[in-house]
Amino acid sequence: MGPLAPAGPGQSPGLPLRGEAFGGMVGEDGGEAGMQGLRFDAVELPRAAAEARARVRAFLRAERAAGHYAAHRNSWNSFDPAFSRRAGAAGFIGITWPSAYGGAEQSSLVRFVVTAEMLAAGAPCGAHWIADRQSGPQILRHGGERVKREILPRIAAGECFFAIGMSEPDSGSDLAAVRTRAVRDDAEWVINGAKIWTSNAHRAHYLIALTRTGEAGPDRHGGLTEFIIDLARPGVSVRPIHNLSGGHEFNEVVFQDYRVPDDMRVGAVGEGWRMVTSELAFERSGPDRFLSDYRLLVELIERLRGQDDPRSAEALGRLVAHLAALLRMSTAVAGLLDRGENPAVEAALVKDVGTQFEREIPEIARLLVSCEPSLEEDDRFAETLAHVTLHAPSFTLRGGTREILRGMIARGLGLR
Ligand SMILES: Cc1cc2nc3c(=O)[nH]c(=O)nc-3n(C[C@H](O)[C@H](O)[C@H](O)COP(=O)(O)OP(=O)(O)OC[C@H]3O[C@@H](n4cnc5c(N)ncnc54)[C@H](O)[C@@H]3O)c2cc1C
Repeated sequence: MGPLAPAGPGQSPGLPLRGEAFGGMVGEDGGEAGMQGLRFDAVELPRAAAEARARVRAFLRAERAAGHYAAHRNSWNSFDPAFSRRAGAAGFIGITWPSAYGGAEQSSLVRFVVTAEMLAAGAPCGAHWIADRQSGPQILRHGGERVKREILPRIAAGECFFAIGMSEPDSGSDLAAVRTRAVRDDAEWVINGAKIWTSNAHRAHYLIALTRTGEAGPDRHGGLTEFIIDLARPGVSVRPIHNLSGGHEFNEVVFQDYRVPDDMRVGAVGEGWRMVTSELAFERSGPDRFLSDYRLLVELIERLRGQDDPRSAEALGRLVAHLAALLRMSTAVAGLLDRGENPAVEAALVKDVGTQFEREIPEIARLLVSCEPSLEEDDRFAETLAHVTLHAPSFTLRGGTREILRGMIARGLGLR
C-alpha cells in the first residue's frame, strides 16, 4: 500500500469540511441543490481529500523540480511509464481499492482530488490512466480472485497498463452490434474478430474486450461477454492507425484464434452489456472530461494578463465559471460513486457539457489572441494552441459521441 493511509475516524467521506469542494483550483464552493431528476447535490470534501491534495501537489512540485516533466498540453494522453511508476509508489494509483490489492482504501472523492490535481498540473498520466480509471475498478467489481490478486497490485504500482476494447470497424456508437466472437472450448475461449480506435494498445499490457458469446435477443443487449486480453500472448496483433496530427495513439487490434482462460472473464457469460455500461460510467464521469486542455486555459489567462480588454475579461470569466460548474457536477458524481450508486446519466451529462467546454477553449483562444497556431514555432502559446486545435475534434467523440450521450440523458429524464 502507498502512503495514502486508509481513512480513519474523522476522515471518512461522511465528515466533510466546508469550502473545500474546489479548494485551490477555482475558488469557493457555491452551495446550490441539484436539478430535479439528476443528482448533482453539493458535496463537501472530506479532510482526507485536503490532505491528499497537499500531498499530490508536493509530489508534482518535486517531479518538476527534478526535471521529470514540464507541464504537458494533454496530461492524460502523455504516456510516461517512469512517471506512472513513481505515482504508483507514492500511492496515487488505485486509491479507492482495498489494500489487499495494492490500494489505499480511500474514497472516490480523494481520488477525484488527486486526478484533478494531476490533470491541472499537466502531469503525464497517460500510461496508467485507463487502468486506474476503469479497467482496475471493473476487475475489482467483476473479476475473478486470481486475476484480482495478479493484476490489481501491478496496476496500483504503476507497472501495468490497459487499453479499451469496445469499438469495432462496423460498430463504435452501437456497441450492441459488436461482432468479435468468443467461442467456449473447455476451460478456454477462442476469440476471432477486430477492435478499432484502441488507444495505446501498442504500449499496454492488457485490454478488456467486449465480445459476442451468444444471441443478442430482442433488446439486442444479450449474448455479450467481457474478457481480459493479455496482449503479449499469441493470436492477437496490434496495427497502428495514425491520427490527424500524425501521432500514433490509435490501433486496430486483430484476434485470430486467440485463446483466453475462462478465469480472465469479467462478469458472467452473457452479462457483457451490463459490464460495458458500468465501465463506461467510470470512463465518462471524471475530471479528464473537461480538463484535457486546461493548460491552454492557464496559458490564455497568462497571455491576456494585464490587458484592459472587457471582451477578454468577459470570455475568461465565462470559461472559469463553466469550469467551476463542471467541477461541482463531477465532484457530485464522485460522491454518488462513494455511495455505491450508478451515476450513468449524470456521468453522461458531465461528459457532454465537459467536452463541449473543452472544445470551446481553443476556439475562444483564437478569437482573443492574434496568433498563428504552430507546432514548429518557439512560442509556447502557439504550440499549445496548435496541439489542442488538432486534438479538440476528438474530445466529443472518444468515450461516446454527444448524440449518444444526449439520447442517454433524455432516456434518464424519461423523455424518450
Ligand atoms: C481519440 C479517440 C480515442 C478513442 N479510443 C478508443 C479506445 O481506446 N477504445 C475503443 O473501443 N474506442 C475508442 N474510440 C472510439 C470511440 O469511442 C468511437 O469513435 C465513438 O464511440 C463513435 O463511434 P464511431 O466512430 O464508430 O462513429 P459512429 O457510431 O459511426 O457515429 C458516426 C456519427 O453518427 C452519430 N450517431 C451514431 N449512432 C447514432 C444514434 N443512434 N443516434 C444519433 N446519432 C448517432 C454519432 O454521434 C456520430 O456523430 C476512440 C475515439 C477517439 C476519437
